[in-house]
Formats: sequence, C-alpha cells, structure tokens
Amino acid sequence: MYRVRLFAIRKARSFEWLYRRLEAVMVACDPLFRRIGYNRVERPVAFVERITKGFLFDCRMCGQCVLSSTGMSCPMNCPKQLRNGPCGGVRPGGFCEVIPEMKCVWTLAWQGAARMKGGDKIREVLPPVDRSLQGSSSWLRVSREKAAKLREAREAGRTALAQAFPNARVIEPASAPLAEEPRRATTGDTRK
Ligand code: SF4
Repeated sequence: MYRVRLFAIRKARSFEWLYRRLEAVMVACDPLFRRIGYNRVERPVAFVERITKGFLFDCRMCGQCVLSSTGMSCPMNCPKQLRNGPCGGVRPGGFCEVIPEMKCVWTLAWQGAARMKGGDKIREVLPPVDRSLQGSSSWLRVSREKAAKLREAREAGRTALAQAFPNARVIEPASAPLAEEPRRATTGDTRK
C-alpha cells in the first residue's frame, strides 16, 4: 500500500525504535527457537513478517532486509531494484523515471534516513541482493546471527575467566605475597 509506505518513511525514527525492540525480543527468544528448531519456526515467523512488512513497507521478502539502512524505504520497490541509489534518472520533484507517478524509492530513502538516529548507515554501500534468500525471514536470520555472536562472546568471557584463576594462582606468590603468620603461632607460645 503506497500511502502506508510513505507514512512509514515519514515515521522512520519510530519504526527504527520499534525494530530495535523487536530485534531484542527475537534475540531473547533464541533459546526457545533453538529448542524448537530454527527450521521449524522459519515458516510461521516468515508468514508474520510477510504480512506485517507487506502492509507497512510493501515488502517483497528478499530475505536480507536493509530497511534500517534505507530510511525505512524498501529498495525492492525500486523498479530497477537497486541496492544503492538513487540512480541518475530521478525526475523533477523526486519522481521515478520508470514509474513517473511514483516517488523515487531512493530519494524517499534519503529523506527517511535523515529522520533516523542511525541514518548515516545509508552512506554505506550495500552488497547486491542474494536471490537465494528470497522468501526467507530476515528477522529470524538477523536475530539468530546476533544471538550466536552474543553466545560466542559469553563463552569467550567464561573461558578467559576460567583460565585467569589458575594463572592467578601461579603468579600469586610473586604479585601478592601471603600475609605473615601471627607471632604467637610461629614462636610456639605454649601458655594456653
Ligand atoms: S529490503 Fe527485503 S526484507 Fe526488507 S522490506 Fe524490502 S523486500 Fe522486504
């Protein structure tokens, strides 16, 4: 729905915030998803994603969502499906050269990005679309990758801590000598 799409771009900052919350929830669900099996949850999550984002952003389920880098304007709605833009064919008033009654997806993207906190991401060059991911859930893939990284970092932290204790014992006498024994104990006081 074109109007809703324009609304989402106007409210890019709110959607950016909402997206961050959603990602946090999805990452928190990682243990549950792993128990159920990610391939089992793929279909229902992709279904919800398709409905929600289809309504809000005219999403085409490319499987590698870049909305947070494109001012909440979905680049797959560009007739040339450019992942970086705009191209040189923008008409006066910011209209598309292929569909003249439609505002250029990429001029809208820059406007949306200007409203976002992380709007500078639009300056990063995006890689071409990987068609093999078409139809899959971006939400699930991104949150799964993030959760895996967090798990790895936690594991690395635990290992470092576990290694730190034996090491600390080895270097303890040199770096922190034990306190002297109380005199009574060492002089053999037998008055007791
Ligand atoms: S970038 Fe891809 S996943 Fe994101 S809204 Fe557009 S088609 Fe959907």
